[in-house]
Amino acid sequence: MLSYWEKTTLRHFDLVVVGGGIVGHFTALFYAQKNPTHRVAILERGLFPSGASTKNAGFACFGSIAELEHDVASIGEEATAALVMKRYNGLKLLRETLGDEATGYSEIGGYEMCFESPKQERIDFFNDLLEPNLGTRPYTIVSPDGYGFSAKVTHLIKNSLEGTVDTGKMMAALQRKVAKAGVLTFTQSPVDRIEDTEGGKVIHIDTEGGTTTFFSRHVALCTNAFSRKFLTDVDLEPGRGLVLVSKPHPAFSWEGSFHYHDGYNYFRTVDGRLLLGGGRHLDKDGETTLEEGVNALIKKALKDDMASLIAPGVDVEIDYMWSGVMAFGMNKQPVLQRVDSHMVAGVRLGGMGVAIGAGLGQELAKLIG
Ligand SMILES: Cc1cc2nc3c(=O)[nH]c(=O)nc-3n(C[C@H](O)[C@H](O)[C@H](O)COP(=O)(O)OP(=O)(O)OC[C@H]3O[C@@H](n4cnc5c(N)ncnc54)[C@H](O)[C@@H]3O)c2cc1C
Repeated sequence: MLSYWEKTTLRHFDLVVVGGGIVGHFTALFYAQKNPTHRVAILERGLFPSGASTKNAGFACFGSIAELEHDVASIGEEATAALVMKRYNGLKLLRETLGDEATGYSEIGGYEMCFESPKQERIDFFNDLLEPNLGTRPYTIVSPDGYGFSAKVTHLIKNSLEGTVDTGKMMAALQRKVAKAGVLTFTQSPVDRIEDTEGGKVIHIDTEGGTTTFFSRHVALCTNAFSRKFLTDVDLEPGRGLVLVSKPHPAFSWEGSFHYHDGYNYFRTVDGRLLLGGGRHLDKDGETTLEEGVNALIKKALKDDMASLIAPGVDVEIDYMWSGVMAFGMNKQPVLQRVDSHMVAGVRLGGMGVAIGAGLGQELAKLIG
């Protein structure tokens, strides 16, 4: 049963953002900063954001050469350069808005593992493609010596402009910033359906006590992988990702964000532990799911890589693991869409949401008006 105050004040908004991940938070933040007198709320179904934003590995990356080669093959050189700039500018916006200290951002470099000598022409091609926009040539070939990797790793391609964030710190900083801008956040508030009403939308939320309705002039859908419920014809598939974290070990004192198998697998150190994730390519059908869970085949493959590729000879003990769900489509561009006169959507962030989430939130806030 709602109180008078809940009924009159706490259910009426100018903007309701559905989904409290990176995009939802940035959308609410930029809209509230532009419209300081408007009432803004975020509705998140989980206690924490329950998709990808607090589950990711914290790579602040914009593209390895192996990934960009696929992009050039599918969308061409010009569009690939534009995609990289979108990610790079998104990272800049994230850093400017929240600050490096608050997010734990560190520009420690991104490294692609090579299992044979990389061709210098490939490196030159992508440096030539990106230099006019970035003002620097980010890629160089460096030695894998000193990391303790298997001898199978012959070279590394370093991207000097990539780094890592502390995902937990980044989301906490966003929550603080959003609260400071006057946005109200409601967690454990799964939105069941959104209906038209005069001058806006009625949002139906399933709560323990039954269904509660909110009213808003605008709705921003920031539900990423979970968006089919609201946008039936959007080109979007869920893709689950698994992350393993080892117990601390002195072998894990190096820095850097590493990846291999065309970016499908990625690893870094955190607090003297090894964090390794990915392997979705090993069972794409099995991982096309909205359910959290551990795929035994992928877990085994990641553990084998820890023992034989990343830290051979080190007694690595897994401390814990988790999964999260991303969203993918036919191409790597996120979906930014006006759904109708009172609703917009910003979804399908793929595997680089840390880089593009802030920028997409900013664009969504502009689209709302
Ligand atoms: C394991 C893993 C590792 C990753 N590693 C990296 C990385 O290192 N670097 C990188 O850049 N990206 C990485 N990503 C991708 C990145 O995390 C995502 O692209 C990004 O977090 C997407 O942000 P979002 O706000 O669009 O979506 P989400 O964070 O998924 O937010 C959507 C939110 O909507 C909520 N929601 C859904 N339905 C409803 C509803 N009906 N009512 C209310 N709320 C609802 C969900 O609970 C969720 O919190 C990784 C992802 C995973 C899963």
